[in-house]
Amino acid sequence: MNTTSVKAFGTEAPEADLKQMHIERRALTAKDVAIDILYCGVCHSDLHTARNEWGGTSYPNVPGHEIVGRVTQVGDQVTKYKVGDLVGVGCMVDSCRECESCKEGVEQYCEKGNIQTYNSFDIHLNKQTFGGYSEAVVVDEDFVLRVPENLDLAATAPLLCAGVTTYSPLRHANVGPGKKVGIVGIGGLGHMAVKISKAMGAHVVVITTSQSKVEDAKRLGADEVILSTDAEQMKANASTLHFILDCVSAQHDINAYLGLLKRDGSLTLVGAPEHPLPVAAFSLIMNRKSFSGSLIGGIAETQEMLDFCGKHNLTSDIELIQMQDINKAYDRLLKGDVKYRFVIDMASLKNK
Ligand code: NAP
Ligand code: ZN
Ligand code: ZN
Repeated sequence: MNTTSVKAFGTEAPEADLKQMHIERRALTAKDVAIDILYCGVCHSDLHTARNEWGGTSYPNVPGHEIVGRVTQVGDQVTKYKVGDLVGVGCMVDSCRECESCKEGVEQYCEKGNIQTYNSFDIHLNKQTFGGYSEAVVVDEDFVLRVPENLDLAATAPLLCAGVTTYSPLRHANVGPGKKVGIVGIGGLGHMAVKISKAMGAHVVVITTSQSKVEDAKRLGADEVILSTDAEQMKANASTLHFILDCVSAQHDINAYLGLLKRDGSLTLVGAPEHPLPVAAFSLIMNRKSFSGSLIGGIAETQEMLDFCGKHNLTSDIELIQMQDINKAYDRLLKGDVKYRFVIDMASLKNK
């Protein structure tokens, strides 16, 4: 198969820095869309994968699954997009399309495993997939999203992962008026969860370890803020929340957060720390609480989320960076030192 070589940033080993490299993009199939990448968000999953914290990373690895850009070419049978359209690509680029999950539009739970934007297997190229820290990408039109024209494009990129990963469980839990919702961990995912749950009409309670985010959380839309390192504040808020979305990337005591739930309350984990999180039986048994997880969102739901954000004028609070500063950005991400999402300006890669 003919391929096109494009510039990218990736890593050769778990402990190595990311550096410039060249990767191959497949020639367009009839259903493919070629996209010139303009911006790509930096998700904590990029860092977990680049450093092989979950195991299973193939090297070289090019992360990036919060992609926005412009269509430059379309295959013969493409009907949804045309050259010049502004589009997005999130965490998935394909799935089997035949299993129960795919048929129900929850392709993220494809029984054969969805094909991820990076560190998966590209069935057309017979090679691994490479992500959005690159100049261009080729994706089947069914896994391409339309981005709202009224939103700032760079600040829209994080919606493709952080947006849908929080929107999906919030919708699934019927978050809305009359519900008191806790959001734990105010990073890229958490700050979008605050904005989205507020727009859904919920009473939003931020639960953070960072003193510096206490005031800022209210600006993001929080009605209340709990500093989780303050035992008195945690105690005062015990048994008050209907639902908690846990967006924490590192080890934390899940039992402390379960204590904030009312009877029949539930906590959904989207954060994916490297090591297991011990849960005490009595944290759940007492007051019939539930503990669950959620993976990104389906393609139709991702479009629904983008349209919702367009309607409510919701985007991410971003810090725009150059591609060459990605290693410094990873170090800062680990310290929680970003308000609230790094987004790479891909012109910095193209012009070098
Ligand atoms: P991020 O921007 O780094 O935010 C993580 C936040 O977690 C931090 O800002 C901090 O918030 C909190 N935190 C960090 N260390 C903590 C600790 N030891 N105890 C308590 N809180 C701590 O990361 P992100 O990009 O939002 O991603 C969050 C997690 O979700 C990652 O593990 C990522 O891989 C995962 N993820 C999962 C999915 C999915 O489909 N389920 C999709 C995307 C990402 P405070 O300063 O407010 O405490
Ligand atoms: Zn992500
Ligand atoms: Zn499937």
